[in-house]
Amino acid sequence: MTDNKTQLNWGELTELHVHIGSAVDPAIMWEIANDQGIKLPTRNYWDFEKLITVSGKTTYQKYLDLFTWTELIQSSPEAIDKSVYSIASGAYRKNNITTLEIRFNPMKRNRGGERDLDHIILAAIHGMERAMLAYPIRAGLIICFDRTFDVKLNSILAKKAIKYARRGVVGIDLAGPIAKSFDISTLVPLINDCRKKGLGITIHTGEATDAHEVRKVVELLSPDRIGHGVRSIEDDSLLNILRERGTVLEVCPSSNIHTGVVADLSKFRDIFHRLKKHRVLFTVNTDGPEMLMTNLKNEYLLLEKNNILTREDLREATKVARKASFIKDGSA
Ligand SMILES: [Zn+2]
Repeated sequence: MTDNKTQLNWGELTELHVHIGSAVDPAIMWEIANDQGIKLPTRNYWDFEKLITVSGKTTYQKYLDLFTWTELIQSSPEAIDKSVYSIASGAYRKNNITTLEIRFNPMKRNRGGERDLDHIILAAIHGMERAMLAYPIRAGLIICFDRTFDVKLNSILAKKAIKYARRGVVGIDLAGPIAKSFDISTLVPLINDCRKKGLGITIHTGEATDAHEVRKVVELLSPDRIGHGVRSIEDDSLLNILRERGTVLEVCPSSNIHTGVVADLSKFRDIFHRLKKHRVLFTVNTDGPEMLMTNLKNEYLLLEKNNILTREDLREATKVARKASFIKDGSA
């Protein structure tokens, strides 16, 4: 069977881990920037494309630095509406993704408070609803706390997530650059409030941070899912805890290789081998398809072609993703 045919055979897919800042087609980003009269560091489209995409290896910090541009361009209700629409509709057209969760931090898109947070969130919901009218898809938004924010700012995000629960927001996450001063335990009351209101909980950990932090996150926050979590394999007893709790990992292979979090594909062979051995539930995701110049089918193909996961494993990961989605039937 050819690779092309392999790509066509996956049926309806689910993607759980996509950031708005890294998932919009550069051409759309260029149009949004120009429509709003944003001063860019270049007037040349191809240089702009290079500015907001990653080819080859980078570092975790340099990767996050790219978001400075995408977040600036997406910092208005009109921009966020267009961005979300393009992500959800593109995911369906390119990859037949019919269940999609899209995450973002609205506070990084309101120009330091100049734009109203509620308008930004409503615009994201509106863009998502428009895509759901145009295509047969289910979508949901996840609001991200940030490691560089103090507890006051993160608690505002929790309040907004709760306000818009059942209106399009389906979950809460923790993302952002690693900040040494950040204390996971400050999130406990916020996460508990969000959970009580029916929001799903996922936390970025075990990516740029080690297995020790994953354990802390699991013990303190009991997330339903973990963003990345690949460094959990450093600790066998942690893997057993993840299995017992049914915590689902959102693994993003190309993203981790580009940022150097995982050295190479052979290391991924080891990671998935251990996850399977300990029967830890995992899903496959892109993290940011446009910025990383990939898509979900490419990620599946990469893993299958390099004998990292079998087709059966990937079908199972697809099923796990659908089941672990925070989008409940009828809620979206
Ligand atoms: Zn991520």
